[in-house]
Amino acid sequence: MTMQYDVVVIGGGHAGCEAANASARMGLSTLLLAVNLDTIGAMPCNPAVGGPGKTHLAREVDALGGVMGIATDATYLQIRMLNSSRGPAVQSLRAQSDKREYSAWMKEYMESLPNLTLRQGMVKNLLLTDGKVSGIELAFGDQIACKSAVLCAGTFLEGTIWIGKETMPAGRAGEFPAVGLSAFLRALGFTTGRLKTGTPPRIDGRTIDYSQLPVVPGDDQLQFFSFLDKRPVLPQIPCHQTRTNEKTHELIRANLHQSPMYSGMIHGVGPRYCPSIEDKVVRFADKDSHSLFLEPEGRSTYEVYLQGCSTSLPVAVQHDIVHSLPGLENASMVRPAYAVEYDYLPAIQFNHALMAKDLPGFFAAGQILGTSGYEEAAAQGIMAGINAALYALGREPFILPRSSSYTGTLVDDLVTKEIGEPYRMMTSRSEYRLLLRQDNADMRLTPLGREVGMVDDHRWELFVAKQEAIDTEKKRVKTVRIHPNPEWEEALAPYDESMKQSATLEELLRRPKVPYSVIDKLAPASEQGFAFGLEVETDIKYAGYIERQRLLIAQTEKLDGFKLPVDFNYLASDHLSKEAREKLNKIRPMTLGQASRIGGVSPADISVLMVLLEQQRRADNARDKAGVSV
Ligand SMILES: Cc1cc2nc3c(=O)[nH]c(=O)nc-3n(C[C@H](O)[C@H](O)[C@H](O)COP(=O)(O)OP(=O)(O)OC[C@H]3O[C@@H](n4cnc5c(N)ncnc54)[C@H](O)[C@@H]3O)c2cc1C
Repeated sequence: MTMQYDVVVIGGGHAGCEAANASARMGLSTLLLAVNLDTIGAMPCNPAVGGPGKTHLAREVDALGGVMGIATDATYLQIRMLNSSRGPAVQSLRAQSDKREYSAWMKEYMESLPNLTLRQGMVKNLLLTDGKVSGIELAFGDQIACKSAVLCAGTFLEGTIWIGKETMPAGRAGEFPAVGLSAFLRALGFTTGRLKTGTPPRIDGRTIDYSQLPVVPGDDQLQFFSFLDKRPVLPQIPCHQTRTNEKTHELIRANLHQSPMYSGMIHGVGPRYCPSIEDKVVRFADKDSHSLFLEPEGRSTYEVYLQGCSTSLPVAVQHDIVHSLPGLENASMVRPAYAVEYDYLPAIQFNHALMAKDLPGFFAAGQILGTSGYEEAAAQGIMAGINAALYALGREPFILPRSSSYTGTLVDDLVTKEIGEPYRMMTSRSEYRLLLRQDNADMRLTPLGREVGMVDDHRWELFVAKQEAIDTEKKRVKTVRIHPNPEWEEALAPYDESMKQSATLEELLRRPKVPYSVIDKLAPASEQGFAFGLEVETDIKYAGYIERQRLLIAQTEKLDGFKLPVDFNYLASDHLSKEAREKLNKIRPMTLGQASRIGGVSPADISVLMVLLEQQRRADNARDKAGVSV
């Protein structure tokens, strides 16, 4: 082998970039391989980052020292806070990205990273020594030695794209598929499955009649994904909205038999939460219209993404569908919509470090583990990259519990539950929503990122200063007391509040409708105001709920503290239900807490496991004592 690295990352998508960034930042010599180096950090579908649940992931990646947030801030066209009128747990930032700029920025950043080498090449096989990964082999024969490998192959393994009945092998439109690697993995004993996803057509923006369409502007207030310093951005670009109508639905219904996504020509399972337009029209037959959004793909292109109209119908039908939409009557389609079907590795074959249970040194992350979405991929990528680096260093894995983050929740869901469809993050997937907010991701995770070697001095200094500022402000609002006066009465009136008697600023903030902005206006912490008012307000307003969630976490942590032996013989226990025996044997959970989250394992099974564990502990003790007396 001519080349040797600590960690090899296979793939340059959102998972691969984060994995390579993590490993290189932790000081390990790292190689990133991609089928095409021009598509590093590519966004093959929606040109956007964030949205409910997804923003949380992107911010957590940033808090840990990842790159997605910085790339988004550097290149976005528009930014908006979704659900801004709702509670802090479900608010989420969404940025419309400049697709080409994002990818170009990411490539330049990756090229600038010390310890990281980029190389174009398709991995065909893994090389094994003593049952562990020791290298990889490329399609043209070169072999490269490594201590660990992270597979982030996205939709490329045996990828096939479909438009109507036409089909072609491809990782995604315009790129070769990765052939042979999934067969190699199956030969090693891995199970693979088949999933599918689709993307909408792109329209030439010059042919859209925007005059009749509602505008969707960005927020006036600039916001950022990354917790690092803020920077100036270019003027924002608006999106627009259009709608399907009876003519569109009629066209779709009349051509359903030509849709491979719908008619069963593609066997893979599709994403429930990003349904194709065919799916929407059939599943919600009572709805006579669906919203679609026209999202520009960049400042230097006229291409516009038709969000909500993913389809695999034949091109001629796609033209008719586009022309049936208000504002698009004369529009030209630049790229047709298509579906892609690909092999994936069900994630229950991996542990919480995202390392294969039966192949030490082999890690995976992203779409290849059955998820969909850039943010889901990035969150797994950073975790797999950190763990591949720790493994190469011979150190303990870095595992985030569910209570710490959406990232921990995502990984736990993937490796614990058998998920047969593309997994997408949503805030409802977390039982700790109020603790795991997008605004406090740094408070939750940056200290952990620092411990593991991901957070540099600059980010750490910013974090410490922010934490101190919040603590100081929380102390101040507790002590500053104000008395009723006309100025405060006027400021509180829009929130249906008034002051009958004096109150501390903290007491005012506890009132459900009173925002921190009132305090920032009338009793500010300093002349410049206070940048972290939302964090202070949320902690104070929701203190009761937050405390209850902390109690819940303490209970769960007790179960997570019970380690289950890896070689525990579940099949031999008649007291466990049949389903529990099978699931536990297949998934082999590491703790009782993890076992309790497996679908089909009931509280009664957990009680049985506790008894069995206690029996085993006593038997082990007795054996040890007997050993000592001998
Ligand atoms: C047509 C289409 C529609 C989509 N629709 C949606 C959607 O509706 N909603 C949604 O959330 N997400 C959607 N996505 C998915 C989204 O693009 C992915 O979730 C995200 O890009 C996954 O990131 P990743 O890093 O896992 O993989 P990818 O971004 O796919 O990157 C894979 C990388 O691996 C490399 N690679 C693969 N095999 C090899 C090999 N053998 N050797 C070397 N390099 C290799 C490739 O070159 C590439 O760099 C869609 C994707 C496509 C293609």
